[in-house]
Amino acid sequence: MDNLTPMMKQYTSVKSKYNDCILFFRLGDFYEMFFEDALKASKELEITLTKRECGQKEKAPMCGVPYHAADSYISKLIEKGYKVAICEQLEDPATAKGIVKRDVIRVITPGTIMDSKVLDEKTNNYLASVFMDDKGVGISYVDISTGELYTTEFKGNIKNNSIALLDELGKIIPSEIIVNSIVYENQKLKKTIENKINPYIAKYRDEDISYKSSNESIMKYFDKNSIDCFKDINGKVHSVVSTGILLDYLQDTQKMTTNHINNISYYSIDNYMALDLNTRINLEINETIRGKEKKGSLIWLLDKTSTAMGGRLLKRWLEQPLLNIKDIEYRLDIIETFTDDIILMDEIKGYLKDIYDLERIMGKIAYGNCNGRDLICLKNSIEVLPSLKQRLMSTANSKLIQLGESIDPLNDLYILIDNSIVDDPPITIKDGGIIKPDFNSEISELRDISTHGKEWLAKLEDTEKQKTGIKTLKIGYNKVFGYYIDVTKSYLNLVPEYYIRKQTLSNSERYITPELKEMEAKILGAEEKLVELEYEVFIQVRDMIKNEMERVQMVSKIIAKIDGLNSLSQVAYTNNYVRPELNNDGIIEIKNGRHPVVEKMLKETMFVPNDTYLNRDKQRVLIITGPNMAGKSTYMRQVAIITLMAQVGSFVPAEYANIGVVDRIFTRIGASDNLSQGESTFMVEMNEVSNIIQNATKDSLIILDEVGRGTSTFDGLSIAWSVIEYIANNIKAKTLFATHYHELTKLEEDMEGIVNYNILVEEKGEEIIFLRKIVRGGTDRSYGIEVARLAGINDSIIKRAREILKSIENQKNNNITIKESDNDVSTETSLEQISFFDNNNKKFIDKIKNIDVIKLTPMDTMNILYDLVEEAKKL
Ligand code: ATP
Repeated sequence: MDNLTPMMKQYTSVKSKYNDCILFFRLGDFYEMFFEDALKASKELEITLTKRECGQKEKAPMCGVPYHAADSYISKLIEKGYKVAICEQLEDPATAKGIVKRDVIRVITPGTIMDSKVLDEKTNNYLASVFMDDKGVGISYVDISTGELYTTEFKGNIKNNSIALLDELGKIIPSEIIVNSIVYENQKLKKTIENKINPYIAKYRDEDISYKSSNESIMKYFDKNSIDCFKDINGKVHSVVSTGILLDYLQDTQKMTTNHINNISYYSIDNYMALDLNTRINLEINETIRGKEKKGSLIWLLDKTSTAMGGRLLKRWLEQPLLNIKDIEYRLDIIETFTDDIILMDEIKGYLKDIYDLERIMGKIAYGNCNGRDLICLKNSIEVLPSLKQRLMSTANSKLIQLGESIDPLNDLYILIDNSIVDDPPITIKDGGIIKPDFNSEISELRDISTHGKEWLAKLEDTEKQKTGIKTLKIGYNKVFGYYIDVTKSYLNLVPEYYIRKQTLSNSERYITPELKEMEAKILGAEEKLVELEYEVFIQVRDMIKNEMERVQMVSKIIAKIDGLNSLSQVAYTNNYVRPELNNDGIIEIKNGRHPVVEKMLKETMFVPNDTYLNRDKQRVLIITGPNMAGKSTYMRQVAIITLMAQVGSFVPAEYANIGVVDRIFTRIGASDNLSQGESTFMVEMNEVSNIIQNATKDSLIILDEVGRGTSTFDGLSIAWSVIEYIANNIKAKTLFATHYHELTKLEEDMEGIVNYNILVEEKGEEIIFLRKIVRGGTDRSYGIEVARLAGINDSIIKRAREILKSIENQKNNNITIKESDNDVSTETSLEQISFFDNNNKKFIDKIKNIDVIKLTPMDTMNILYDLVEEAKKL
């Protein structure tokens, strides 16, 4: 590579520092990419691949994008999972001596992209940093579009922490995670993060990390002498380290610090209800399981927020329900005031609707990439604040009054923007037309020259027409010749002598005069100066607003809170929800509860409400049986969602609800496999059960929708049986367990705390009618064949299934013996129990019984198996 041209040498030297990025190398009006980058980018962006001389025998592959359209190309690459380093010209090519200086001014990554076309308005875009060692984990995450920075940590061994880490990341859903080697090299953990959360994940700064160096990174980023001002993290080693790493990475990629990231919010995961990743998915909080769509999820139902900030906060509330009753009651009190006074509720919504995304506008201001329109949006939002403040303070709710009082009306900022920025500014900030003339006397003067100059030109055109008698004479302008007098060919004989010819066109000739040139210098000079000055003044105004960053951020937070609560109030009012009572006595009592999303999705039928009662002693495990399609899953999820909503501080879909605060909700629902990680459906199911058994406490709520279905009937039944026993006896968590193993209903007689329920159906001949009502007692039929018929399985299969069922039931010799022995379940099974065989087939069974498995070679096994299959086919 010695023979490279000087420019290519510069390119390769910059590129060598950004090997993990696609380098956008500024050359004039283009960003060019070379070599490998060009091959990748031309394919991903569908742009032409060309070549450029580089000093080597082979030309360098090259492709490029115009600099003014770069944003959309960069976003495309980020969405496809690349990082992009922007290498700019650091000096003016016109005056630079030799090769223009160039360097990377910013690295854009999935977690640091600011393009509003890519970011979802109501979702935070988090960049997370994870630091794990054998003593604990620190997680820190920042949304650079809004300036929020959070951190948490937990202690414990790597195995337990891996689960807790996944759960926490499942809540945050970062688009990019930087991790240390312990995480990066843990293939299983890394793969699970990739599969379930799908972030860009990379290893970053592993060596030379210590509590001390991280302290320094934090101090450097925030320009402080110590980290004492962030008292919540002081001494918290893992949090400090993950935050230090995060801030170093921000510096490395952004090449600047911004004043909108000005706080580190530490939280303890113990202050919130813990929800593991499966539970978030199973309860369809953010998206549906099937279509991965927002429609049909809980957030879809509850989000009626008017501002982007409110939308993002509501999402966070759903992701971390509260444990402290006082905090929950705070939200409920406000919602109650709104639902009792819907005029107030609507009025507040009316104000909120006019408020733009203040957090992201301030983010743009901090980054220096806001335009005049952003400032007008800020002004229009501020305009609403006094009325909103007034309205809140005029209510009788002390909490709303207090929120109103804490709104800073930001009057000074309103006046500043109103005085300085025109009402309808252009998108660009470098072409003028953005500052009001009265704001700055120099701008006013220059604008005067520019407009008067134009009037003067119009007058000159008139006088020249009269003087020369050329009726079609026109004064025009182009970039090459400046102002000129245009005379069409038919009048050329009237052109006076003092006109100086400049250009000949097919139909006309163009002239200048000394007088015209003199004026041109004045006008153009003024215009150029005006554009420059307007830009300068805009930057001054922007910086003045930037200095008030924290005040605007405070207002944003209050707006978000009011909006979130207003949204929950609208949903509560429209759907007839009630305010839940809360207790710490472990009682969950729901009268006529409904599943909030299912009731909305039902089109032709009405949702049938149901009651629930769970407590810490006599009724802590409900075994729910009933036909397929009866509504067992819906019922169990409904209980979980009502509990979750209550702890979010929302009203709930019921006639009455008294919710004992739960520390965690666990769910094990449905079958899914994880084949990419080498786990079968049954293995996944058992992993989930194992997680529940290890982590549930007496204060948890567990939803088990079928356990043990992915294996043989007797293995499955035994596992389900012993799991229930263990939960009921040892963990004592409140549990809803739906099953088609009707044998499990026997547990009610033997064990305290277990109670049977079933969902009613009515039989009408061969038809079944789903009544959807849950009642005490067990059931012994699943009506699977009837449901299969309803699903459209053809008559001959249904008929045959009924015959087989009848034969199986007739011959059933079900003698499972379940001995209770310290939670051990032993099943005595014999092949006769598998009653697919009638007495005539005893011979066949005996043949199997007599096989001496230990002595068989693999080949014998294959042969015997083949014979058995052939025989079985004849049965
Ligand atoms: P399976 O045992 O086959 O898994 P299930 O008993 O769990 O079935 P669900 O999946 O809960 O049944 O319910 C089936 C359908 O019945 C739901 O999709 C919903 O449309 C309807 N449904 C459930 N509960 C109710 C209800 N309370 N009121 C009205 N419709 C309901």
